[in-house]
Amino acid sequence: MKSKLLIGAGIIIILIAGMGLGYWATQTVAKDYFLKDLIPSATLDEKDAFVESIPVDVSLEPKQLSRNVKKAKNVIFLIGDGMSISQVSAYRLVQGGPNSRIAVDRFPYSGIVLTHAENAIVTDSASSATAYSTGRKTNNGALGMDSENNELENLTETLDQYGFVSSLLATSEITHATPAAFAAHVDLRWKTDEISAQMIESKVATFLGGGRHFFLPEEMDGKRKDARNLLEEVNASHTLLTTKDEMNDFNDNKLGKVFGLFADEHLRSIDSPDNHSSEPSLSEMLQFAVKRSGQFINNGCKGFFIMGEGSQVDWAGHSNNLEYLIREMQDLDSAVEWAFNYAKQNTDTLVVVTADHETGGLLIEPANPADYNGNEVKFSFNTAVGRGTHTGVPVPVYAYGPGAENFTGTLDNTDVYRAVIEALELGEKGSSCIPN
Ligand SMILES: [Zn+2]
Repeated sequence: MKSKLLIGAGIIIILIAGMGLGYWATQTVAKDYFLKDLIPSATLDEKDAFVESIPVDVSLEPKQLSRNVKKAKNVIFLIGDGMSISQVSAYRLVQGGPNSRIAVDRFPYSGIVLTHAENAIVTDSASSATAYSTGRKTNNGALGMDSENNELENLTETLDQYGFVSSLLATSEITHATPAAFAAHVDLRWKTDEISAQMIESKVATFLGGGRHFFLPEEMDGKRKDARNLLEEVNASHTLLTTKDEMNDFNDNKLGKVFGLFADEHLRSIDSPDNHSSEPSLSEMLQFAVKRSGQFINNGCKGFFIMGEGSQVDWAGHSNNLEYLIREMQDLDSAVEWAFNYAKQNTDTLVVVTADHETGGLLIEPANPADYNGNEVKFSFNTAVGRGTHTGVPVPVYAYGPGAENFTGTLDNTDVYRAVIEALELGEKGSSCIPN
């Protein structure tokens, strides 16, 4: 009897020891051995990639939106060009770790936006911005025009007829695709001579950004092929601002349209990455535009629409540069923060933050793939096509204020336009509140 007990106990001890040994083996030897085998150590070029043809001609059903009772008078629409969840996450991690929070984290509503173009799975900024500005899909490259080259009425034109004042802000040249989609109609985004001329003619009250060269003829060191000196024309119809000081010193009581061109090309060139001394940040441009809009509202406008773009988040993705990315995300983040706080005080303002597409295939991985422990993280830009490009992954949308509930679930980028219109108290169509 006693010996049977001893044998039983012996077996149990051996079993436990075996389990322990097994556990140890899985955790050490096997982990090393199998992981190395299972995770190919090939570079991206050598890895498998899968090329599939995706149907693009399936018709698109508009998202069912809910009627919001409280309507918005104002909309601040902020776009991080090239910003998806990984760019937002990388910025959060770098600036304060996973438990810290950035401005978009405070927004009560968020959703997922599908960004494809009419003729392509991977969109460019022109097509996606046209979806936001007109509610219509179009081909890559087109601005404010459908795929058959028909002009599409854009949001600033529609709102002008309802008596709203609009502003467009960008940290790129103001003629770049995203702001241009809200003011111009061209079949190709590269037609900057036409875009700048159309911007001056548009009803948008305030333009702020870079791109002086696109307003000057080549003979004057500019980029215009048509020999027109558009700066002179801007001076005749607008107040032209060329530095941050001029913007800050602007006489608020002065009505009329404003054109701020703070750099020859984009703001904050590579040689002057923190050039906020002579060029305004996105947040400063936003504050100026809101203040300006207030003047117009005092003079009869019903409300305002402001589109502000953190343009260079995209360029950081294209050039696979994390430091650049974080700098541009920070610039955008402070504008988002300011807008959110403004909307908390001004409860008739809807703030929407989104992106046109992702750029660069940004990854966030453990620095050592065989060991998830520790806090070392490797950020890398990964595209399998040989260069930093746009990707087809969806982007987030964040919303706060009247009508924000509609920016939830999965939306097409054209639904985002519809949700903005749905949120607004448009009232009766009337005359423009913008003096010529
Ligand atoms: Zn891009």
